[in-house]
Amino acid sequence: MRVAVFSARPYDEQFLAGANAGAGHELTYLETRLSRETGRLAAGFDAVCVFVNDELDADLLGALRADGLKLVALRAAGFNNVDVVAAQRCGVTVARVPAYSPHAVAEHSLALILTLNRKTHRAFNRIREGNFALEGLLGFDLNGKTVGVVGTGAIGAIGAIGEIVARILLGFGCVVVAHDPCPNRRLLDLGVRYASIPELLPLCDIVTLHCPLTPATHRMIDASAIGRMKPGVMLINTSRGAVVDTIAVIHGLKSGPIGSLGLDVYEEESALFFEDRSERFIDDDVFARLLTFPNVLVTGHQAFFTQEALTSIADTTIANITAFERTGRAIHEVRVEPVTDAS
Ligand code: NAD
Repeated sequence: MRVAVFSARPYDEQFLAGANAGAGHELTYLETRLSRETGRLAAGFDAVCVFVNDELDADLLGALRADGLKLVALRAAGFNNVDVVAAQRCGVTVARVPAYSPHAVAEHSLALILTLNRKTHRAFNRIREGNFALEGLLGFDLNGKTVGVVGTGAIGAIGAIGEIVARILLGFGCVVVAHDPCPNRRLLDLGVRYASIPELLPLCDIVTLHCPLTPATHRMIDASAIGRMKPGVMLINTSRGAVVDTIAVIHGLKSGPIGSLGLDVYEEESALFFEDRSERFIDDDVFARLLTFPNVLVTGHQAFFTQEALTSIADTTIANITAFERTGRAIHEVRVEPVTDAS
């Protein structure tokens, strides 16, 4: 198939080329993000291969369909950036990579927790400057602390990120309290207790988010949720930026109760992440404000970025495209029920 690969970075090209070696699809790599403004670049391709910050709304999907588009192959698990209902309506198949080394994201979440707690990022700089003082580096034992894991993977599903985070935290001696509309039997068997968000928040020394971005989770961590949190709580988000209300979180950092914040995702990240902007100023004042806090650690959506994950993403993406070419069905199709207006 003729595939336009958007938001393509050298590492995407390397791993996709490897996976495509036996499949023989014609891949055209485009560094640009796919959006209404750049949609014309996809004209004439059978498929587009897209990442988390490419935006495919109903208008763009309709226009691309008219130009011959048949398949949107996501190189990601989340699909909140594609209007799947509109795609279904106009006959474009959407496929994704449902699971690819969830260990990558889980382990990065732990990296954020451990770094924020023991301040190894600050220690690194201090030691290089010959400053061996310990003031300001005080942490706490993870052993015995209560951690809230939001989103743990459905019964029967294998390898949800939240489940792996919970297992690692249990290994540290933490008490894990979870929230998920569908509790995970394996975690229940390990003694994890499930609670509603209002019940969970006041209990936790650390809250870590692993749910998808849906209408129900959009800004789930807002001012009212933050108001329920334990003083000094550490908040970690490696799921999707819009699951937290960033302005409310900034307020929570300034006046309590948030003691530290670790983010791998940010609501407006599409204007910032995945590019070297070191020669420019940051014109997102909310993001710039976040960077002024010493107790905030931001990484640029790199939680997935391991060799194992990139290999798995490339293999599954190419398998989706190949299956679609041969049978008209991708292996991991995304289908959603259209929302009907009950009024
Ligand atoms: P998953 O679908 O396996 O598990 C998500 C869980 O969230 C499910 O059990 C689901 O029931 C639960 N959930 C749904 N609505 C919820 C709600 N309102 N409250 C609590 N839980 C809810 O997904 P996953 O593979 O574990 O990925 C989790 C999220 O991590 C993804 O949706 C994606 O947004 C994010 N992610 C981030 C990166 C990164 O690099 N930072 C990489 C991959 C995935």
